[in-house]
Amino acid sequence: MSATGLVGLVIVSHSRALARAAVGLAQEMVHGKQLKITIAAGLDDTTFGTDATQIVEAITAADQGAGVVVLMDLGSAVLSAELALDLLDDELRGRVVLCPAPLVEGLVVAAVAAAGGATIDEVVAEAAGALAGKIGHLDPAPAAAVSADAPAGADELTGQFVVTNPHGLHARPAARLVQEARKRDARVSIRNRSTDSEWVAAGSLSKIATLGVRSGHEVEVRVSGSQAAEALDHVLALAARHFDEPLTEPPVAAEPVGTRQGPIGAAPGLGIGPARSARLRPIAIPDTAAEDPATEWRRVSKAIAGVRRAIGQLRTHTAREVGETEASIFDAHQLLLDDTELLDGVRARIDAGGSAVAAWSQTVAALAAEFTALPDPYLRARAEDVTAVGDQVLRAMLGSATSTVDTTGVLIAADLTPAEAAELVPEQVAAVVLAFGSPHAHNVILLRAKGIPAVVGAGPAALHIAEGTVVAVDGTSGEVIVDPPDDLRRRFGDRVAALARRQSTARARAAEPAITTDGRVVRVGANLGSVDDARAAVAAGADFAGLIRTEFLFLGRPDAPDVEEQTAVYRKIAESMDGRRITLRTLDVGGDKPLEFLPTPAEANPFLGVRGIRLSLQHRQLLTDQLLAMARVAHQTPVSVMFPMVSTLDELFAARGLLDEALAATGRGRPQDLQVGMMVEVPAAALKAAAFARHVDFFSIGTNDLTQYALAADRNNEAVAAIGDTFDPGLLALIRSTCQGAAGQASVSVCGEFAADERAAGLLVGLGVEALSVSPPAIASTKEAVRAVDSRNAAVAATAALSADSASAVREQLNPG
Ligand code: PEP
Ligand code: MG
Repeated sequence: MSATGLVGLVIVSHSRALARAAVGLAQEMVHGKQLKITIAAGLDDTTFGTDATQIVEAITAADQGAGVVVLMDLGSAVLSAELALDLLDDELRGRVVLCPAPLVEGLVVAAVAAAGGATIDEVVAEAAGALAGKIGHLDPAPAAAVSADAPAGADELTGQFVVTNPHGLHARPAARLVQEARKRDARVSIRNRSTDSEWVAAGSLSKIATLGVRSGHEVEVRVSGSQAAEALDHVLALAARHFDEPLTEPPVAAEPVGTRQGPIGAAPGLGIGPARSARLRPIAIPDTAAEDPATEWRRVSKAIAGVRRAIGQLRTHTAREVGETEASIFDAHQLLLDDTELLDGVRARIDAGGSAVAAWSQTVAALAAEFTALPDPYLRARAEDVTAVGDQVLRAMLGSATSTVDTTGVLIAADLTPAEAAELVPEQVAAVVLAFGSPHAHNVILLRAKGIPAVVGAGPAALHIAEGTVVAVDGTSGEVIVDPPDDLRRRFGDRVAALARRQSTARARAAEPAITTDGRVVRVGANLGSVDDARAAVAAGADFAGLIRTEFLFLGRPDAPDVEEQTAVYRKIAESMDGRRITLRTLDVGGDKPLEFLPTPAEANPFLGVRGIRLSLQHRQLLTDQLLAMARVAHQTPVSVMFPMVSTLDELFAARGLLDEALAATGRGRPQDLQVGMMVEVPAAALKAAAFARHVDFFSIGTNDLTQYALAADRNNEAVAAIGDTFDPGLLALIRSTCQGAAGQASVSVCGEFAADERAAGLLVGLGVEALSVSPPAIASTKEAVRAVDSRNAAVAATAALSADSASAVREQLNPG
């Protein structure tokens, strides 16, 4: 045994839960010996990922002087561990070994060896041979012959698929493929059969991109390694699911045809300031001499680790605030940071005497140029992703600000990715003007949540506004005034000041009830997507939680949360809401929100397919578990259970039946305060409200979906954004029908984005809506808008609006002049 202590062990895994369980298993084997096993796993308790800085800390904590053996799971775990090694000081690095052993088997034997006082070489040798027993037991001959590095040959499995994604294997689907290819102990290669390309590793995003796989191309897959069969099945299943990408993605920056009616106010508020183009500003590369290669490489590694952490945080935030689909763009960015081709290129340049900054910028530029040279315009545009991530790392190395654009003023762009929207700082960005875009798209929802006024669909001419020109933006009406004359500028300034005063009054009265001038109380609740949101909602003055999108608990994870986990989270939300009613919506996935652990067949029209309650009723265990968790919480706090996307009475009966069973399973009968309701998102449900009303306590109108279904205008498709206008009299008629059907039997609230439109408050009250539910930042202004309403006048105005010719005529009636 070493005089300085036992060899320490570090587990690097994408999953914290997996690492903890593996350590638990190993500790069983060593019966409480004082062995140091530390973990660096997951970005937090539930987010998968690996982080070099965490690994450095884990290695440092595991070191007792006799050395540290690091065991890793797959793909980027290995790369992160390599980066971590580079970040260690030379003394400690000298006694750390990254061991290629399988994680669980390797850990168990390594723990036993280390606890017995083995040297570091002995521990590594033990771990590396950890599979021998299993191989000998199961099938010695073939298993021994297969290794991830074995050349392609007799042991390999093959398959093929046709890519039907509109833009081929572009960044997001390619990133999903890379993730899938790296998940297992298998070597996965692909080639574009349609162009007779070379074979490339499916674990490299940049290599895949060079295949130029377009929609309709046939791709061949070759897999070898101990988990080849499983890997091949998963890759083919992923391809059949179109790489989990909705097939209705709008064309990139395409000029919308025919339907555009000019700029659309998309996020309310007023902003004035100098125009700022969202184009990237070049970074000046200093001409500094390189130090030794190890120091230069460490500089790169450190910057990459920092950027990886920043992107991981942005991903988590965006998944919560906007949605998993948009958040997945960050996976592509993360994978670029791990890209072996990119890192090898940088390393080679550094080894040849280049500085970290020069090596990185040259390699990134070369990779971006490869993308730019591709024939497919969509893939060509991916060069921007490479440059954006490359610049982030460069800035981290140079210690300059992380923002890629100067955003102090009015930001003008063709469109923004949710990533870019997520990074904008409300204190700096007076307003956003997008040449394209849709008011219902998730990037705009994010801008609204941040309180940044925005106008979309301003047209390509907006891109020619000269940098620095003063632009005034009304995010409610859609007005964009370029270089306003002095008097207009003054008047606009006065409006901005008046709005700021109104907002400050609204904030001061946010916790008070919203009562119309003639004494009707309109409850204003909050739409939530996390426990943090619940805290924000109470601080913002919410009377209740009108919509809890429980999807946040299910998306982006490899398994469903069990009843205990769900109960704990719902309970936490209830506690944060301090006794206020919470409306728990059952899982609303499908459509554009696929579940990782529940692969569903590809659908030609996912928004008209198995989503919302339809999916839950097809996978009853999911719904039963969820209802049991809700039933438990309902015994402690006022709970409303709400079913999404209900179209028929049969669906409602089936869901209510399962809820009754869940209530019986708690053994405590029916909680007194429990209410049961449904979303009204399908036009037929609005028209059948009277029939539904006999079986529910409340309706909550989801105007986001009701609008897209009523007007046949995809909520994510900018080309039809002007048609999907919530002020359309046809939509108002469906709201009226819901209120009339509900009369005397069920209450009616609105929880779609329309509820937060201050112009709509009178209209909705006039149509018979009794409560509104909005995102926490909109609570104060929504309450203030209600306080200005006289419900009798509102009823007259609502009836007039129902017979208006168009959405714009309705708006004019509400706000003449
Ligand atoms: C809606 O459709 O209006 C709604 C609130 O549901 P979601 O936006 O979650 O689809
Ligand atoms: Mg909806």
